[in-house]
Amino acid sequence: MLHHIAIIGSGPSGLFCADALLKQRPELKIDVFDRLPTPFGLVRFGVAPDHQGTKAVTRQFDRLFGSSNLRFVGNIAVGQDLPLARLAEHYDAIVLALGAHADRPLGIPGEDLPGRYGSMAFVGWYNGHPDYYGLNPLLDRTGVAVIGVGNVAVDIVRVLGKTPAEMAASDICAHAAKAIAAAPLTDLYLIGRRGPAEASFTSAELAELGRLERVRPVVNKADLPNALPAGIDPAEAKIKEKNLQLLHEFAARSDAKPIKLHFLFHSVPEAVLGKSRVEGLKLANRTLDVGTVISAIGYRTAVHGDLPQPDQHGIIPNQDGKVADGLYVVGWAKRGPSGTIPTNRAEAKMVADRILADFANDTAPAKSGNAALDAWLAQQGLTPVDWMGWKRIEAAEIKAARQGSPREKLVDWAALRQAALSSETVS
Ligand code: NAP
Repeated sequence: MLHHIAIIGSGPSGLFCADALLKQRPELKIDVFDRLPTPFGLVRFGVAPDHQGTKAVTRQFDRLFGSSNLRFVGNIAVGQDLPLARLAEHYDAIVLALGAHADRPLGIPGEDLPGRYGSMAFVGWYNGHPDYYGLNPLLDRTGVAVIGVGNVAVDIVRVLGKTPAEMAASDICAHAAKAIAAAPLTDLYLIGRRGPAEASFTSAELAELGRLERVRPVVNKADLPNALPAGIDPAEAKIKEKNLQLLHEFAARSDAKPIKLHFLFHSVPEAVLGKSRVEGLKLANRTLDVGTVISAIGYRTAVHGDLPQPDQHGIIPNQDGKVADGLYVVGWAKRGPSGTIPTNRAEAKMVADRILADFANDTAPAKSGNAALDAWLAQQGLTPVDWMGWKRIEAAEIKAARQGSPREKLVDWAALRQAALSSETVS
């Protein structure tokens, strides 16, 4: 029986799932939908612009789209433009690969003041997400506080701390590079509510902070335990021991550099201060003189229209990836915002196996798939962006790149759609 599958979201979890399905059943017909006219989700908008090596996974996804049984259907918001119920009429299985797009709230007074941003918005701003490129964050004071000691917080202080020369080979958007270069930064704060042994950043990312040209990490030796608390999982303990070693090295430094990066541990944020904008950050143990506060404290899955609602943890309730008959979930929407890009590969394979096992037991006739759906989209006046449309965007971005950078991203919806739907031919 010829099955049709719709995957909602073209980030790593969705595309690893498509890969796992097609490896086992190359004849399956798979459509990958995305609200944006561009594929790759977190790889394009989440991964730091100076971590181009991490983005290289897109080459593998490029090859995947070489299969004539896999289509990209961008610029279509499932749940809004296209109800899930309508999709279910045409596809035998639907996989929600939605990621986690909403910032977790801090839940403290003052968090709505201008100058306080969530990491989704702030990272989206420098990575050219069409919803956030116009954020225009306040970066006009010498101090910036970043709340959270995970890898996203580390990405943010590193991107703020690097010089234009250090960012030259990155794909940071021109508007953000200009704003960061003009910011009068002297003090960056990385704020952990617990101790260094509980911080979730990883050692390679932490080590990078010690190699920045204009930034000196400042660590108070008194905050650092000499040994890890007992009972930590051995794999985790290895990372945390290395982290502690790096933090001890940072604590011993005294070199003069224009920007200090203060590591503050055991510092619980109590209030963002200010009347009409951020003027400071009150921690349980001190008050910081900062004009910008960025919270990098994790994400929740956000859904629209008739997509299933996330639970109180921000994930879509599921049993090993199954939400309901014919409906599955992968990635951050399934397990929460944790793990690296390769974590999704094994998990997506597991969910793909489950879908195929369910197909094997399914006696219902297969559904019609994309032909009928395409007719419905056209009737509604909706214009999907296909893989060639994305290739046109990509070609325009490569053409506009400054010297040394792989691309200058198109950042607004109109420019993206215009490039995608132009008649330009691309190879
Ligand atoms: P994360 O690792 O979960 O870190 C979140 C941080 O926010 C933790 O330090 C947490 O502290 C803190 N936090 C949570 N609620 C808080 C609150 N109300 N007040 C103060 N602090 C609070 O999440 P992430 O940094 O967003 O990263 C998400 C995932 O992507 C992670 O798996 C990460 O490793 C991965 N990632 C990887 C890379 C890379 O490999 N280079 C880059 C970016 C992201 P507690 O521990 O006390 O809760």
